[in-house]
Amino acid sequence: MATQTRTETIYNFNAGPAILPRPVLEQVQAELLDYHGTGLSILEASHRGREYEEINREAEERLKRLLGVGNDYRVLFVQGGASQQFGMIPMNFLAEGAVADYIVTGSWSEKALEEASKIGQTHVAASTKDSGYRRVPSPAQLELSPDSAYVHICSNETISGTQWQRYPDVGDRRLVADMGSDILSRPLDGSQFALIYAGAQKNMGSAGVTAVITRTDWLEQAPTNLPTMLRYATFAKNDSLYNTPPVFAVYVMNLTLQWLESQGLDAIEQRNRQKAALIYDAVDDSGGYYRGHAEPQSRSMMNVTFRLPDEEQEKRFVAEATAAGFVGLKGHRTVGGIRVSLYNAMDVDGPTQLAEFMAEFARTNG
Ligand SMILES: *Cc1c(COP(=O)(O)O)cnc(C)c1O
Repeated sequence: MATQTRTETIYNFNAGPAILPRPVLEQVQAELLDYHGTGLSILEASHRGREYEEINREAEERLKRLLGVGNDYRVLFVQGGASQQFGMIPMNFLAEGAVADYIVTGSWSEKALEEASKIGQTHVAASTKDSGYRRVPSPAQLELSPDSAYVHICSNETISGTQWQRYPDVGDRRLVADMGSDILSRPLDGSQFALIYAGAQKNMGSAGVTAVITRTDWLEQAPTNLPTMLRYATFAKNDSLYNTPPVFAVYVMNLTLQWLESQGLDAIEQRNRQKAALIYDAVDDSGGYYRGHAEPQSRSMMNVTFRLPDEEQEKRFVAEATAAGFVGLKGHRTVGGIRVSLYNAMDVDGPTQLAEFMAEFARTNG
């Protein structure tokens, strides 16, 4: 079989599944047929074997280190995506008679709220829907319930392109965050959260596994009559090995976490800021040709969203960008426009080149 090699650089701005660090892909390729001298691929090995157990343990330890949480937390590897977490969280933690607060800043937090409302009582503590999801709420806008079971936020709204710059102060309530699209994009004190969850496929690996980082003392409060696989305690008790885990996804995640540790989250954040600034500057310096969606103080570092004067030009922008090697720029199907996703694995070259393309496109079409 002939291998095809591309000569032209492709810049991957896909929103998810998304770009992976090149060294991770190369390592996967190098050890795919023979994992660490075992003569077997990791894809063929037992999940009860020494090799996989080591991967499983390393991935948990790495994620805890990166999030700065100690032994009062567990990392669980769950399937079903972040979308399944929307239901699992209230199933485990929203008891009858209790209320959960949801701060609604976009499509993903809307979905989380919708699922929780099927399970129990919810309260919208703030919503920025009226602003077209252009920002996160100010502290003064929060109306938290006096005694909520937890407060749910979406750290970065992937579709509209807004991000919490400072997490809300929820007092001694439990804070739960969907970090699907910005986990490990900046240093973070994980201990301010009772639970964090994220699908690996945007910022820390491939599709197929969702990491749930949660306080251990919370787990035992969940009802015992839940289906086994919908109960977090099952995963904690069995080191996420109650049933067959998504071994390949956890393996890729472990390598990606290793890469993130080698970079350091301070450097990752600095680079992420630099990347986002390149695109926001291209928007702001276009004399109004590009119109940014998010309000400046809520702008996402991960997903830069903007419009062109009309849909016709947006289509042409995407087509010409794709032809020039910039892929994945079409906005989410529900909102249209352009979305530039700049996850951890993207280096500065991508947005540097894209910013130049944007300036040239505005010059010739504006
Ligand atoms: C992508 C995404 C999801 C959905 O994740 P799935 O793994 O596809 O279920 C949820 N929340 C956020 C913030 C996302 O970016």
